[in-house]
This record gives sequence, structure tokens and C-alpha cells, in this order.
Amino acid sequence: MRRTRDSQRKKLYEAESVVLGKNLPTMPEVEKYVAKVTRSDWWKKHHKYPTYPVEVQDGRGCRAYAFGMTRMKFPKWSRHEEVILHELAHLVVHSHYGYYGAAGHGKEFAKILLLLVKRFMGKEEYEKMKASFKTYHIKHTCTIPTHIKPKVRIATGDCVYVGIGKE
Ligand SMILES: [Zn+2]
Repeated sequence: MRRTRDSQRKKLYEAESVVLGKNLPTMPEVEKYVAKVTRSDWWKKHHKYPTYPVEVQDGRGCRAYAFGMTRMKFPKWSRHEEVILHELAHLVVHSHYGYYGAAGHGKEFAKILLLLVKRFMGKEEYEKMKASFKTYHIKHTCTIPTHIKPKVRIATGDCVYVGIGKE
């Protein structure tokens, strides 16, 4: 199966760079931060399989990676809050859409990343990223699944959540 074209990747990398979070230089610090996010109510609501343990590995080279729904790799340069949230957003997208169902850095990804930034870095950073998304024409208006009871619709800003029930 061909993967959905990841047409806004480059733009998104530039747009998200306005937000700078804490530096977490050691793997135990990265693990602690990931544990904080993946044990939160936010994660329970947004990841399709929130009880799956998320695995964090040391990495080499020039890229941080997210594999599937639960695995990430962080080379030394990438151990920053905003990079970790970026990779966590991939895990959430993969959990709902699989590897082929949504563009790597498409509107679903951008929406989830914004929500993560809002929840874990605060409203100010969220507004900064949202404004930058606007400047760079990053698409992030969409419906994303969450664990809200079926048929309940809650308008939240520019996105409407449609509950899919718990699995
Ligand atoms: Zn990415």
C-alpha cells in the first residue's frame, strides 16, 4: 500500500521551530518526561491503546524516530521537550490511522501536536505554534478520534471531536 503523501512535512518542521521547550539531555530525563505524558489523562483520551507501554531508546544519527504506536528513538541532539512531543504525536496518529492512513505530518498530526503542546507546554507556546501554523499554511483543522462516549460531540476550538468509544 502506498503511503499518503507527506506534503506538509518540510513546512511543518519550519513552523514548529518557533516553540522551544526544556532540554532533557539524559535518557532517564527523556524517559521521565515520556512517562509523564503517557500516564496522563490526555494520553488516555487520545491514544487508541493508552495502556500499551511506550518504549524509549537511545539513538544515533541525525533523526529522532517514532515506530508504530509505542516506540521512539532519541539521539542526543533531539532530547528536547518539543521534539519528544513531536514523536509522541506520531505514536498517537499511528494508533488511530496506522502507518498508511494519514500523511506523516498531515492535518491529523498537526492537530495532535498542537493539543500536546497546549497540554504539556502551556497555552502561550500553543498560541505561538498555532500562529506559526497559520503563517506557514499548515493544515490542522480536522476531526480526530478520542475516547469520548459515542455520539457525543464537543466543539473544541476549530476542531470537533467525534467519540469512537473505548476499545
Ligand atoms: Zn515527524
